[in-house]
Amino acid sequence: MKRLLLILLILALVASFFVFDLGRFLTLESLKQSQNDFAALKMQSPWLVAFVSFVLYVIAAALSLPGALIMTLAVGALFGLVMGTLLVSFASSIGATLAFLASRFLLRDIVQQRFGDKLKAINEGVAKDGALYLFTLRLVPVFPFFLINLLMGLTPMRTRTFYWVSQVGMLAGTLVFVNAGTQLAQLQSLSGILSPGMLFSFALLGIFPMIAKKITAWLQRRRVYAKWQRPAKFDRNLIVIGGGAAGLVSAYIAAAVKAKVTLIEAHKMGGDCLNFGCVPSKALIKSAKLANQIRHGEHYGLNAGVPDFSFRKVMARVHDVIRTVAPHDSIERFTGLGVEVLQGYARITDPWTVEIKFNDGTTQILTTRSIVIATGARPFVPPLPGLDEVGYVTSDTLWSTFAELDEAPKRLVVLGGGPIGCEMAQSFARLGSHVIQIEMGARIMVREDVEVSELARASLAADGVEILTNHKAVRCGTEGGRKYIVVEHDGQSRRIEFDTLLCAVGRSARLTGFGLEELGIPVQRTVTTNDYLETLYPNIYAAGDVAGPYQFTHTAAHQGWYVAVNSLFGEFKKFKADYSVIPWATFIEPEVARVGLNEQEAREQGIAYEVTKYGIDDLDRAIADGTAHGFVKVLTVPGKDKILGVTIVGEHAGDLLAEFVLAMKHGLGLNKILGTIHTYPTLAEANKYAAGEWKRAHAPQKVLAWLERFHAWKRG
Ligand SMILES: Cc1cc2nc3c(=O)[nH]c(=O)nc-3n(C[C@H](O)[C@H](O)[C@H](O)COP(=O)(O)OP(=O)(O)OC[C@H]3O[C@@H](n4cnc5c(N)ncnc54)[C@H](O)[C@@H]3O)c2cc1C
Repeated sequence: MKRLLLILLILALVASFFVFDLGRFLTLESLKQSQNDFAALKMQSPWLVAFVSFVLYVIAAALSLPGALIMTLAVGALFGLVMGTLLVSFASSIGATLAFLASRFLLRDIVQQRFGDKLKAINEGVAKDGALYLFTLRLVPVFPFFLINLLMGLTPMRTRTFYWVSQVGMLAGTLVFVNAGTQLAQLQSLSGILSPGMLFSFALLGIFPMIAKKITAWLQRRRVYAKWQRPAKFDRNLIVIGGGAAGLVSAYIAAAVKAKVTLIEAHKMGGDCLNFGCVPSKALIKSAKLANQIRHGEHYGLNAGVPDFSFRKVMARVHDVIRTVAPHDSIERFTGLGVEVLQGYARITDPWTVEIKFNDGTTQILTTRSIVIATGARPFVPPLPGLDEVGYVTSDTLWSTFAELDEAPKRLVVLGGGPIGCEMAQSFARLGSHVIQIEMGARIMVREDVEVSELARASLAADGVEILTNHKAVRCGTEGGRKYIVVEHDGQSRRIEFDTLLCAVGRSARLTGFGLEELGIPVQRTVTTNDYLETLYPNIYAAGDVAGPYQFTHTAAHQGWYVAVNSLFGEFKKFKADYSVIPWATFIEPEVARVGLNEQEAREQGIAYEVTKYGIDDLDRAIADGTAHGFVKVLTVPGKDKILGVTIVGEHAGDLLAEFVLAMKHGLGLNKILGTIHTYPTLAEANKYAAGEWKRAHAPQKVLAWLERFHAWKRG
């Protein structure tokens, strides 16, 4: 209601300006003719004239009416340079701010909701450098000021910032025009005020802040490097520290473009993913799934049975899988690709030098133009009293520890309700452990929508996992040789006995012990980098889990490309790491896969969305496979064929997601997915049916009603 009234008031005022043709007073000729009358009025009541001029100026600027230039000249003619400048400077800034606020109040929510995702980059730019942009726009009087006021109102810029930057930025232009007003009698035309020379000077002034920013950045860089002695020549173009996904990809790219690159790995080539993460966990999940299928054989017309297996053999298979995949990441392969691989512990000793300590105690020192830090992350172990005494396994140690067991631990406590905790809890429950999963938060897999968490919970519970959410682990201990953990829930304590405790509460970046402290490279939870993945030292980059913000193999590899290209070719062209379409999956059964926004994120970010959902329980192939559960949920921009995000829960959800990842990456909508032939009968048809649901919901009802009449008419 308030908005409507304000719109009507603004429209009425603007309309009256044109209806009464008030613009006729705002011409140079009319001003010159009335100059003497105005001067006489001013002689009589100087303060009243000043006040009226001020108010009229504010109103004209607030309503974005044309004529500000003539009014400025008039004020200059009447009040002279100093008083005139003061008056115009405040009146124009206040008027501009009122226009800014009106645009914000009336339009910002609508514009941000409709185009929020497209405006993300602009919003971020304004949040970071908005004052600088505005200052430049204000200094160069070739940009229409009324447009700047209205457009800035749509951005997240603070009103205070807008006001003061406008006032300072417009000062030079105000001075020029007020001064021209003091010479009104000699002024022949408006174009005479701004000569090409003066416009050029304004433009120079306008780009000055940008140039100043570049110079400051260059000086800062010089200061950062000042205390180090730069080598005259370098042994390598690039040294990569860490042989996980991020390090392997960056070294590979560097070698592919014929740079001299050395990769240093302290432990196992392939890093966490191959040795302790994705690969062993997925191998384990497969065996556990098969055991579960045997247990539920009746679903497939077979006799249900108790899976008869040796846990030791299951774990041996996990290690076989690692061994089979290992050649992909091996020293031999990378050496063959042109990468020098060194097995040792690397430490950065200055911005261009890396010291490598080999296992036999010898060291080697190499200089390099650029360095990539790809040291990954390690399991986070919470400071829980008694934890060290009872002992625990993490994703780092579980594979070797469990390889020595004949049976899965009888009673397994899994600390943590994130993806790794859930994958492990379900697998070991299926392999015979009684699993109790402890999560401090209100639900497991908290980044996903509530309905996804609930499905995951139901699925794990069906496999026998006892899930304790809202339970805080407080301490561990042993009594009579029996290990226990104490958890608190609703003010009550509970003691849970266990044989093995798996700590899966998150992973923290490896940040210490290899030179970051000595070089003063800032870190928080991860190494601090800019959009180009440069650290404080622009020749030292970080990628993968150590850089964040994601902790996935594919994001580590993705960043690996950016750091290789930026470090080798940055003087010509640098690329900002692109996180616009990042998929991921949690490999419990049913799998949970996501790309882009889910509902809870869209709500948190105030992004309007429409939901289309297709239940996989209806899908022919899923019914035939006995996996008819889960859904495809697509978020789209309301009324538009633009995908904001997709969550799939179901068999092979991680694979099904690829079609949506491609669609989002290349701006394809649901119409395109619907128009693509999907093989029958496949699980991938679920994507097409989801698109079909969306299409049905957006069917043009009026056209269909008309078509019905048309067909009736044709029937006669
Ligand atoms: C149980 C588990 C399951 C997972 N499942 C998945 C999954 O299904 N999908 C997925 O995408 N991701 C998964 N992940 C995450 C994935 O493993 C990581 O995101 C990925 O390994 C990160 O790669 P990276 O190159 O950043 O680091 P890493 O793979 O950790 O590699 C870093 C390497 O640097 C070496 N290093 C460290 N410091 C030094 C030094 N000073 N000198 C020399 N070498 C050094 C380390 O030894 C290590 O090998 C899983 C992780 C775990 C633990």
